[in-house]
Amino acid sequence: MSDSEEELTIVSNRLPVVLNRCGTDWQVDPGTGGLVQAMNPILTENGGCWVGWPGVTKEEGTGWKPGLEQVSADSGYELEHVVLTQEQLEGFYEGYANSVVWPLFHGFPDRCEFRPQFYRAYGEVNDRFAEVIAARMGRGGFVWIHDYHLFEAARRLRQKGFRGRTAFFLHIPFPSVENFSKLPWREELLSDLLHYDLVGFQTRRDLHHFETCVEGLGLATAEKREQGLRRFDLGARVVEAGAFPIGIDYEDFARRARSETVTQRVEELRGDLGDCQVVLGVDRLDYSKGLLHRLRAYEQTLERHPELCEEVVLFQLVVPSRENVAEYQALKEEFDREVGRINGRFSTAGWQPIHYRYNRVGPQELSAMYRMASVGLVTPLRDGMNLVSKEYCASQVDEDGVLVLSEFAGAAEQLERGAIVVNPYDISQTAQALYRAITMPGDERRQRMRRIRQVVAESDVYHWAESFLTRARLREETVQRVVGSEVDKFAMPERRGL
Ligand code: UDP
Repeated sequence: MSDSEEELTIVSNRLPVVLNRCGTDWQVDPGTGGLVQAMNPILTENGGCWVGWPGVTKEEGTGWKPGLEQVSADSGYELEHVVLTQEQLEGFYEGYANSVVWPLFHGFPDRCEFRPQFYRAYGEVNDRFAEVIAARMGRGGFVWIHDYHLFEAARRLRQKGFRGRTAFFLHIPFPSVENFSKLPWREELLSDLLHYDLVGFQTRRDLHHFETCVEGLGLATAEKREQGLRRFDLGARVVEAGAFPIGIDYEDFARRARSETVTQRVEELRGDLGDCQVVLGVDRLDYSKGLLHRLRAYEQTLERHPELCEEVVLFQLVVPSRENVAEYQALKEEFDREVGRINGRFSTAGWQPIHYRYNRVGPQELSAMYRMASVGLVTPLRDGMNLVSKEYCASQVDEDGVLVLSEFAGAAEQLERGAIVVNPYDISQTAQALYRAITMPGDERRQRMRRIRQVVAESDVYHWAESFLTRARLREETVQRVVGSEVDKFAMPERRGL
């Protein structure tokens, strides 16, 4: 990215910081994760700003502000916070984002709670974000908005007089037209997305679903530009939509996996597990991750191949998530029960088939787990991308691991030529695939892993950010700008529920 590039404003639900209360004080640490790593160099080099919610509510006071200012000064770009009340947070985040959009977009419409008050709170909070962005940017500039918490931000920004460029990236999947059509506010959501200049999805499948929904609901017709890119001509302006699969910081994972500390830790972990081959699962606790299906598949593998007993272990790390939500507590209880049942059924004096940890681990421990595992078992029922699958492969520096990957993870579109791809709903097929992975000869393992690692290395998170931003900036020259009253061509005359 050259020095002449304009300043970039990134917007996401959460600011890239971690706030911890220490008595009456606050500790504010910089955030981690792929998006932060990818954006850091770009924001630092060209100047810019990150807008988001700091992670505490208005009711909790403002004692964290000095810490935030310090992190902002240290990171070399500005952190602009959007403060939300507890009530707004419940309706917007717990409500619309996580009880409507998340289940619907992951293919679980029966889990959705389509409550109008959730939708109202979502609109209110998106408006709050738009206010903060507009106050900072004025009428022009380039803003890149992230994920399903902020579909309405561009429309609301334009209503406030913003005339710059807006881009959006959806980190989760986009649903099929059958599922999407169940949303009471379906036209509104699509029209909100069509207020962006560029809309990015993880995969070509998501892009195709979006295109089918826009066309199916009669909002616009897609014109195919090139592989993975569509153009919607709305008359006064043109919206582009494309597939931009997100990557990881490959070099960082590979370097850490090779480090002395991690190599030593791999030995320790292996020592604890005996001479067994390790099958690894790493997932946030969520119904989209297919954790129960996975246990059944592993159980079936042991049932069909008793010779594997005392030869393999399933090492499952479950990362706590949304622990205050009853549905997630129930999922955890069921998972715990199933682990206990399977361990009770197959354990012998010196061997236990499942080693299960329920906690969050640091980067080095995670790298050691990735490196020690001879099978990475990644079987979500639906996932936008699934970074764990890529991190596992990047950490396989000895190239002798096998990736078993769900066809419903976004990563399958890129990694299908090296992974063993399964339908996680098909327990019997997954069990067979697992057996094949465990018994795969060394040559085939290496050949497959090398192929995947090359793809993961080439399409890393920096490549992702660069290609998205390049596309967003290219549009500047090729696309007419929206002016005046044409802005709201797709504003719904009556936005239901408002
Ligand atoms: N991860 C983590 N701490 C852990 C285990 C995993 O921070 O103890 C990270 C992991 O490195 C990965 C992310 O959590 O980057 C999970 O991303 P993924 O896309 O696989 O699933 P998501 O949780 O976003 O649905």
